[in-house]
Amino acid sequence: MGMKERLRNSYWTFKPPLGYTSIKQGNTQHIIINPQGELLRKAFLLKINFQQSNAQLVVWLRKHGVKLSEKLLTQTLRNPFYCGLISSSLLDGEVVKGQHEALITETQFEQLNTLQKAQEHGHVHAKEVPTVPLKHHVRCHRCTKPLTGYVVKKKALWYYKCNTKGCRLNIGAHQLHNLYQVMLSQYTLAQHLIAPMKTITASVFQQLNQEGVQERKAVETELLRVQQKLERMQERYANEELDRATYEKYSSKTAVDELQPLQARYAGLATNLSNLETYTDYAVEMAANLYIMWEKSDLPIRQKLQNMIHPNGLAFAPEIGLYRTGRTNVIFDTITSLSNANSNKKTGPNTAKSVKSGLVGPTGIEPVTC
Ligand SMILES: [Zn+2]
Repeated sequence: MGMKERLRNSYWTFKPPLGYTSIKQGNTQHIIINPQGELLRKAFLLKINFQQSNAQLVVWLRKHGVKLSEKLLTQTLRNPFYCGLISSSLLDGEVVKGQHEALITETQFEQLNTLQKAQEHGHVHAKEVPTVPLKHHVRCHRCTKPLTGYVVKKKALWYYKCNTKGCRLNIGAHQLHNLYQVMLSQYTLAQHLIAPMKTITASVFQQLNQEGVQERKAVETELLRVQQKLERMQERYANEELDRATYEKYSSKTAVDELQPLQARYAGLATNLSNLETYTDYAVEMAANLYIMWEKSDLPIRQKLQNMIHPNGLAFAPEIGLYRTGRTNVIFDTITSLSNANSNKKTGPNTAKSVKSGLVGPTGIEPVTC
């Protein structure tokens, strides 16, 4: 078989791109995803979910042992091989589905390329200067309305205020930001805690995965039962035990009331675990640099970060300062417990257990929503 034919038959005959290894099994050549490929997948997801720039991704990849230049990364992001397709000049522009496993879906590949183009043209990072990044995130403690920002042009100073008539809550942007950064510092993960934190989150994911598997099985059993019920109705209709009107009435009722809700539930259970894993890994690493990250990021990233840490926002009271409304993201809660456990070793028993139990439960994983 010539090279062109082999390509047409979806076999990649050249050296595979970064992240893939070619192995020979008997007479056939297989292209498999290697550990670098797994990291590349995470980097792709970081770009899609957090709009990371290519420069940021290069730094992240290097930290994890994948050395590549920004130029190569840019080329890599454009290569449809990663979403399972093969294109080659030998195929005269024709794109075929490859035999190799894709790192990302075609939709994700399109998202990546749209982002890439937008970032090249500077559209993604809006020009809005993050002077009042906490607006709408922090609420007034009295009337619970979100604070807005304004500037006193003469002094070139920014303030946050409550817009409710007669409320008059008002605070300098600088002051509020200081309070916020003090708050962030308690979620900052010490370097030596990064590894334990990753282990804990990994175990949570395993547990979540198991719960997911069990639920899937239960729904599968139910689906089978309903399908059998429908088949029995068909059979009875075929054997003339049921007339047409009765058959149609009951079979459509079963389909609407039982089958469809189950199918919808089943589809919703297909959680993308590798995506979740990327979020936690990223959150843990970010937590080690939280303070700086918030300070150095542009507005969209700051807002994402804020919502990720405090999904329900914060409140401000002049007498108390900043405090959280509702719960904190489970990851950052764990960091606080871990850090406290570490600095207060003498005051109590090891809190690893309580940290773990605090993490349990699928509702605790918040990064998905941001
Ligand atoms: Zn108010």
